[in-house]
Amino acid sequence: MNLPAWLNPIARPLLGSDPHRARHVLFVLASTQLYIVNLGIIWHTVHFGLLRAEIARDLTLGSLLTLFTVYVLVRSGWSQRFRDPVLSMPHALASIALCFVAYLQVGEHRASVLILVAEAIVMCMFRLRPTQMLVLGLSSVGMLLLCVVGLTWADPIRYPASTGLMHFVIGGSTLLILSLVAKWVTDIRVRIGMQAKELSQALATLQHMATQDSLTGLLNRRIMVDLVETELKLVERHGHPMTVALVDLDHFKSINDRFGHQAGDAVLIGFASLAQSQLRQVDKVARWGGEEFLIMLPQVKADEALNALERLRLSMGSLTFPEHPGVNATFSVGLAQARQGETLEQLIERADHALYQAKHNGRNRSHVAEHEADASQAAAQPSTGLAPLTGSAT
Ligand code: GH3
Ligand code: MG
Ligand code: MG
Repeated sequence: MNLPAWLNPIARPLLGSDPHRARHVLFVLASTQLYIVNLGIIWHTVHFGLLRAEIARDLTLGSLLTLFTVYVLVRSGWSQRFRDPVLSMPHALASIALCFVAYLQVGEHRASVLILVAEAIVMCMFRLRPTQMLVLGLSSVGMLLLCVVGLTWADPIRYPASTGLMHFVIGGSTLLILSLVAKWVTDIRVRIGMQAKELSQALATLQHMATQDSLTGLLNRRIMVDLVETELKLVERHGHPMTVALVDLDHFKSINDRFGHQAGDAVLIGFASLAQSQLRQVDKVARWGGEEFLIMLPQVKADEALNALERLRLSMGSLTFPEHPGVNATFSVGLAQARQGETLEQLIERADHALYQAKHNGRNRSHVAEHEADASQAAAQPSTGLAPLTGSAT
């Protein structure tokens, strides 16, 4: 919650340090303005001699006690155990009950008190659930009935049954209609809230689907194209290096054929998590298609990228799949360092040629596309007992 800094010395002790609870406390305190308006009206009627000061004093004390009790329950965190920690329903019921106490006291001006009840019902539209709204409306009508019956019973001369009946029919039906309208509005509010939630969930799912490969959790081709194109612009503007590596699993079809499609999937997932764990955070790994992956290594020249890919290649060779005993996989990779002014298509084409060369030279190896027109070839150095690495440039 962002309050102006100068308010902090007051807000901190008043609202507490937990921002979540502070929001609830603030909501309770916001109802203070309603109490102020209502008490203002009550004391105004005292001023004009329409209400006895003692009654106004009792109502003021009752209001302050209600507000203070709700504040303490919310501020202390006691109310956190409830679905509505702001305690809107009991607070509203207590306020309305207080209004009916006033109704009993204010004599012939009692009809005006019903406006305060209506006001409380309207305020609750923004907080309560539809059924609570209905319960609140019916409770108000019930309290009105009790007051009318009580007044008629206590003072049948000044408050005959016919007057009571008229008050109840007019006041009760007004409150009932108002609470039905409030329930209807609350229904709409709740429905809009649910739709907004569903919409944002659907949006998150769509965003996830639009950028991620469902099997491996890697970036998908679409988003990777955007990322590489953005990086190519930076290469052109700032001249820093950037290398892409096109990876293709070797004889993947035969893994599927021998061990089943699930084993093939496990290999794809295994490669994805290995690549993500071994490469830097800034390196982007995407599933480019089937059993092909594109890796982008920003700020890295081809020879450094080659080292990283070689480490990954060696790890891949020793990767095992406990649920698929006997399965092991290797990959071939073609690397290309971006040239100034090169397009994505040109860069990928060079990486693809280098990959083709790696495959052609026997698989399970790396091959680097030449960077400058006159550049000499760059090639991976054999570093384990795995297959030797190619040394030819494309
Ligand atoms: P090479 O060494 O020349 O790359 O041979 P390869 O067998 O890896 O290449 P090929 O293009 O002949 O076969 C690729 C296979 O990848 C064929 C396809 O069924 C399989 N494949 C593509 N996508 C998936 C997938 O999501 N899961 C599984 N299990 N297999 C897949
Ligand atoms: Mg392939
Ligand atoms: Mg393959």
